[in-house]
Amino acid sequence: MVILGIESTAHTASVGIVTDQAEVLSLATDMFRPTHGGIHPREAANHHVDVLPGLVAKAIDDAHLRPSEIDAVAFAQGPGLGPCLRAGATVARMLALTWNKPLVPVNHCVAHVEIARVLSGIDDPMLLYASGGNTQVVAYGAGRYRVLGETLDVGIGNFLDKLWISMGGTFPGGPPIEAEALRGSELLSLPYSVHGMDVAFSGMLTATLALRAKGASTPDLAFSVESTAYSMLTEVTERALAHRRRTDVVLGGGVACNERLRGMVKAMAEARGGTSFAPPKSLCVDNGAMIAWTGHLAFQAGLVVPVERSAVQPRQRTDLVPTPWR
Ligand code: AMP
Ligand code: MG
Repeated sequence: MVILGIESTAHTASVGIVTDQAEVLSLATDMFRPTHGGIHPREAANHHVDVLPGLVAKAIDDAHLRPSEIDAVAFAQGPGLGPCLRAGATVARMLALTWNKPLVPVNHCVAHVEIARVLSGIDDPMLLYASGGNTQVVAYGAGRYRVLGETLDVGIGNFLDKLWISMGGTFPGGPPIEAEALRGSELLSLPYSVHGMDVAFSGMLTATLALRAKGASTPDLAFSVESTAYSMLTEVTERALAHRRRTDVVLGGGVACNERLRGMVKAMAEARGGTSFAPPKSLCVDNGAMIAWTGHLAFQAGLVVPVERSAVQPRQRTDLVPTPWR
């Protein structure tokens, strides 16, 4: 069985083709990069409309398949930016109708868990999902994936991007902050905002910019921001593990590409007698392969929708979607 998956929840348009053995046959991705400022939903959606047909053709070509050999079309139904979601869903509906294939809606956050779960072989992990718009600690319990902790304001990636743009850089901010942090040495005091299993970042943004105005160096600021923000994420992940009596962590989201965060979570998990796994970076960031793989699980469980009931759900919560394959 072969599934095609379409991802378009935010700035990334991506098409992946995956087998029922979780083998990624192809993955074609194109990221919208604003020339200035953050992501404007309409501009990102226009980008997706432009590139998705080409990405579908490339994914099919790279997988050496004919459309008739694809068994179902999956798409990210939510959560995400409405115009971006609609661009991907429209392409998915069109393919399902043209090829006469089942249409399978997928929750984006659940897809991050499922791709990490199958790649790691960890059956029941805690997911630390750290991306641009989302920051959540997620685990399975009583029939659903449950959000145990999350950001109370912005996603960690949006915080890093906003900080970097405010310092004169361009989107995305995570990778250049990672590079700067390697040259930093002094740990400057920043707000450490953990509330139970939740976190918040807006106070750190204000405090970092204030320190910069007083002359703190970019490497020291980057080092301090990473140390503080990633400690917060590691702490809430550890607390969730302890509460749920789990030992193993998987990572997902663009910020999970960060080596420092990976190292801190790994050290924490190993100190508790567990393990931590981060997918390869192409499958950590938003990607069509995770949508295809989760689409496969959902399809096997019968979660197919007719086109007229396939509306996107920009605010779809992780804990509202059924996961009968678990
Ligand atoms: P996503 O929303 O999952 O597509 O991830 C995009 C976010 O990941 C952006 O906010 C980036 O700044 C962030 N990001 C990407 N690479 C890194 C990195 N190496 N370190 C920290 N953040 C990163
Ligand atoms: Mg994501």
